[in-house]
Amino acid sequence: MTPVLAQIIFLAGVVGWAAIRIPHEVKNKRRNRIDVSAVDLREKVLLVVSLSGLGLVPIAYCLFASTGFLRFADYRFSPPLAWLGTAVFVAALALFLATHRQLGRNWSQTLELRKDHTLVTHGVYRLVRHPMYSAFFLWTLGQALLLQNWIAGPAGFVGFGLLYAFRVGREEAMMRAAFGQQYADYMARTKRVIPFIH
Ligand code: SAH
Repeated sequence: MTPVLAQIIFLAGVVGWAAIRIPHEVKNKRRNRIDVSAVDLREKVLLVVSLSGLGLVPIAYCLFASTGFLRFADYRFSPPLAWLGTAVFVAALALFLATHRQLGRNWSQTLELRKDHTLVTHGVYRLVRHPMYSAFFLWTLGQALLLQNWIAGPAGFVGFGLLYAFRVGREEAMMRAAFGQQYADYMARTKRVIPFIH
């Protein structure tokens, strides 16, 4: 494992991520009406911050490495950590795929409820209430292990961490308002992103 190979693996992960998400997004847009929307400026800013940390900054780091971009923040490369990052990345993608399949037409990129929204509590949703966010956190861990740079590595955790921290409570309030006792019961028997812990 070399830094360049780790960067190629990161970019391949981005392609895999897009291959899962884009078809889903296209299909959902065509078939689905939005019923409730809690999207405001704050939510939009958070999406941009998250996307920058998870994607734009690390992609730019990988693509422009040869020009010296962010090189001042590199530290000594550890191949075992980069291999571990690869494994975490694969797990993140697998979980991301499972959550898209199981959430199906209820998925949306932001705080919205679809027309005829149903509450999903099966599959990975039985283990935690926000498995797609668990997948994003796994991605941020993989990113930090693959891109051994003090800026490009932790950027994902900072960016997505902010989105998560400011969004999850509102998302749950929206779900509680829509599904009432059914969501309250679901909350009582599950944690948010790490089974049994958080
Ligand atoms: N927080 C979830 C879903 C992320 S997608 C996860 O991490 O897996 C965001 C949208 O999914 C929300 O706007 C909401 O409309 C929808 N959603 C969240 N949890 C859901 C559930 N258990 N069942 C159905 N839809 C859900």
